[in-house]
Amino acid sequence: MQPLEFLKFTPKNNCGECGYPACLAFAAAVTKGGENPEKCPYVDVAALGDAFAMTDHGQDGLDGVAKRLDEKDMALVTYLKKKTSGIDFSKAAEKIGCVWSGAEKDCLLLQFLGRDVELCHDQVLIDGEEVVDPRDQILLYNYVYFGGGEKPAQEWIGMESLPNSISKVRTLRVYCEERLASFFTGNTEGFVAHAPALGAVLQDNPEQSCSAAFLVSVLPHLPMFVLFWDEEKEDNFPAKVKVLFDEKVMDYLDIESLVFACERMAERWVGLAE
Ligand code: SF4
Repeated sequence: MQPLEFLKFTPKNNCGECGYPACLAFAAAVTKGGENPEKCPYVDVAALGDAFAMTDHGQDGLDGVAKRLDEKDMALVTYLKKKTSGIDFSKAAEKIGCVWSGAEKDCLLLQFLGRDVELCHDQVLIDGEEVVDPRDQILLYNYVYFGGGEKPAQEWIGMESLPNSISKVRTLRVYCEERLASFFTGNTEGFVAHAPALGAVLQDNPEQSCSAAFLVSVLPHLPMFVLFWDEEKEDNFPAKVKVLFDEKVMDYLDIESLVFACERMAERWVGLAE
């Protein structure tokens, strides 16, 4: 049974009596994480029937859901390592803007949001530390797996102009653009001051009339143009951020990894300023 099917058996009033903040969270925990459906006093468990009985529910509530997602990510890392194991790093390096370490280590050396990455066939180091977050590994191995294409032309487009991006536009807005805008509201100086640590370079961009514009090399051939308009209290304008991509960006990453790269950029920008 899927969470949305189970949801139909709840009153959908998000009352919180089950210990979850919303009925949908409870539905996910029950159907994917093995939570006891009787924790919602309004669900008629007998009415759930065979479809529920035959579901593999897991064991640990929402923790179980998170664990399963981690396992899925780790499986993807393993898959990508296998896919990239046949790539000759000495030949691939130039096309994706990396430096080859030489035969002894056989790694790709690159910058990721201003940090030094050593990407080898079996592990990734960032600033000398082994990367444990599978999502960073997926992003970096995907970048290598894509293998590059036409060099960035610095012709800028929005996420909405990329193919199959409808659902991603909102993710980009919530986890990157709005996050940066709300954190740096009224603090253009802070936004500007922490940018160099990300490898971001201040741009002249008078026609956009923004407070600050940066060219951020998230990865060597993955530039992003980040525009920041600070709040204007008198006119009731809140702060706003817009991220633009090079029109060749799809030669270098898939859309999921691209959105994740933006999320990481926002996290790092905010993290440097906290
Ligand atoms: S107790 Fe039931 S109705 Fe209340 S939030 Fe949980 S699932 Fe929804």
